[in-house]
Amino acid sequence: MAAKIQTRDLVIVGGGPAGLTAGLYAARARMDAVLLEMLSPGGQVLTTELVENWPGDVEGVSGFALAERMRAHALKFGLEIKNQEVTGLRAEGKLKVLQTPAGDLRARAVVLAVGAQPRKLGLPGEALLIGKGVSYCGTCDGPFYRDQVVVAIGGGDTAAEEAMFLTRFAKKVYLVHRRDQLRAAGVLAERVLANGKIQVLWSHQALAVKGQAKVEAVRLKDLKTGQEFDLTADGAFVFVGTAPNTGFLRGVLDMDREGFIIHDRNQHTSLNGVFAAGDCCSKLLRQIVVAAGEGAVATYAAQRYLEDDHG
Ligand code: NAP
Repeated sequence: MAAKIQTRDLVIVGGGPAGLTAGLYAARARMDAVLLEMLSPGGQVLTTELVENWPGDVEGVSGFALAERMRAHALKFGLEIKNQEVTGLRAEGKLKVLQTPAGDLRARAVVLAVGAQPRKLGLPGEALLIGKGVSYCGTCDGPFYRDQVVVAIGGGDTAAEEAMFLTRFAKKVYLVHRRDQLRAAGVLAERVLANGKIQVLWSHQALAVKGQAKVEAVRLKDLKTGQEFDLTADGAFVFVGTAPNTGFLRGVLDMDREGFIIHDRNQHTSLNGVFAAGDCCSKLLRQIVVAAGEGAVATYAAQRYLEDDHG
């Protein structure tokens, strides 16, 4: 006899700030909910050294500590959290079926909080040298570059924060940005410009990462003069935005050109009963505070959806 497939009222997929907040709200509402997380809860915030814009934490809080507090907070209200990867989603009548390596799980409503990961540039040499000098996380790999020279590529909040973190170890950080103005928040941009170890190469484009066994140089182009040259470096850190973890949802619900999930103002996606929250969503600003807010809205909207007897 085939094993009975479990049906839950709400399945939350992903355990970053969006998923954990969705879970907190579900647990406090006493919903029959489970949160599925592939690795350990926390998401990208785990690799953020210091979060300075989480309201109320005036001195800032380490990303790790914040994630742990969010997890503990949801658990305190009884949220069930399981280590489980979700590999597919489909509608079956009113129900949604989530595919996992351990078998299918049914849900009346779903909150997708699957997050995003650093985007790759796709430069020649980049993929080959990942782990050999190419990195997407200064907080993780910075300590390997003590007294060395590194190149950081990008101009957003991540590039600014990570370039500054890298100066704790590296003797020199070249920040390569394709424009002549940083996209990063003003306070971060000011710190970058005031940091004596960071040299910004404005209006420069990275063309390739060079090296055999490890990174030896980054090939750059000065976009104002057209001149190309090799900048000798021990590491190349890429901080050029994020790509959503939505590959397994392709064709299932509406996404934008880059694969971020499209939703309405109540976080409802194009698939009835499926809500989305956090960095996997199509939107202007990807920050912890936004993700947490969307997680709360998504669960509340899912609750209303279930009460209206859609599930
Ligand atoms: P982002 O804000 O999208 O910035 C990406 C940066 O990479 C931009 O400066 C962009 O240049 C550059 N870039 C993109 N594609 C490129 C290419 N092909 N070649 C060269 N440069 C390229 O990404 P992010 O900095 O990773 O931040 C992601 C989200 O997380 C944002 O919403 C950000 O606010 C948030 N975040 C917040 C904090 C914080 O609040 N403390 C910290 C980290 C991240 P242009 O400027 O020319 O477009």
